Amino acid sequence: MNYSSILVFFKDQDKEYVGFATLPNQVHRKSVKKGFDFTLMVAGESGLGKSTLVNSLFLTDLYKDRKLLNAEERITQTVEITKHTVDIEEKGVKLKLTIVDTPGFGDAVNNTECWKSVADYIDQQFEQYFRDESGLNRKNIQDNRVHCCLYFISPFGHGLRPLDVEFMKALHEKVNIVPVLAKADTLTPSEVKKKKIKIREEIEQYGIKIYQFPDCDSDEDEEFKQQDLELKESIPFAVIGSNTVVEAKGKRVRGRLYPWGIVEVENSAHCDFVKLRNMLVRTHMQDLKDVTRETHYENYRAQCIQSMTRMVVKEQPPLHQLEDEAL
Ligand code: GDP
Repeated sequence: MNYSSILVFFKDQDKEYVGFATLPNQVHRKSVKKGFDFTLMVAGESGLGKSTLVNSLFLTDLYKDRKLLNAEERITQTVEITKHTVDIEEKGVKLKLTIVDTPGFGDAVNNTECWKSVADYIDQQFEQYFRDESGLNRKNIQDNRVHCCLYFISPFGHGLRPLDVEFMKALHEKVNIVPVLAKADTLTPSEVKKKKIKIREEIEQYGIKIYQFPDCDSDEDEEFKQQDLELKESIPFAVIGSNTVVEAKGKRVRGRLYPWGIVEVENSAHCDFVKLRNMLVRTHMQDLKDVTRETHYENYRAQCIQSMTRMVVKEQPPLHQLEDEAL
């Protein structure tokens, strides 16, 4: 058999199959082996249910060692940032989850610039990554960049408070902000609806750039498009958290027990908890990481390089001085 007839033989056999169709499987296998990581920040006034929600989201007790401060300690406290890391595994897929908590937020008497330490924290993570990336051992960089910030809005105010506006504007160019309406069980469904509209309007009015869900491709199926639309209209996600399991209609569920009934955390008729969890874990985790890398980190990096270049130019003596010296 000559060369061309061998080729015809293979073409007929495999319908011109070269093998690159296995690329997704190869990528999949490699990624699963490496494991995934995700860093989520929670921010907003203390007492709004941040720790409870995080525990409910990832079904872990991330805060077992938490020390709650008394009123006096909280008055003088500046925002203290704490980090908790857990390794979770599901069907052989490992996820290293880091939660960055900003507890004393809004507690102090003077809250001016209380967002500063949070902004500094995000910048420090970018700075560390930038250093590691420019260093010798680029292979094993520990990536601590913050991929998403859940910003808790109080259900008791009339929309956003000045501190919310200030905080989100200080951070919106550094991190993906996802606003949530906390303790939604304290509001009736029509109040939730009205509050959501008001908050969305205020976000627009004050020019706050929250995380934008990527647009759907036109060739996506109708169900996916519908889900996407619902997700966009859910902002801010109305959430309820609970660390206790209660019995509702013969089933054991995570919920809150009141004299008048049970609020189920995972019931989508009661709140947007499931929508938020699906968005964070099932549908948009990779996009949140991509936007962090491609937009927020890239901005930081560009600014860094610009200021480094400016410094170098400043340090160099003017050209005429160099010419004089040469003479
Ligand atoms: P953090 O300071 O923001 O972390 O708030 P915590 O998670 O410690 O919660 C403060 C208090 O609010 C606790 O007593 C919780 O039981 C309660 N709590 C948490 N989530 C909810 C919720 O969704 N609804 C209601 N009504 N209370 C909540």
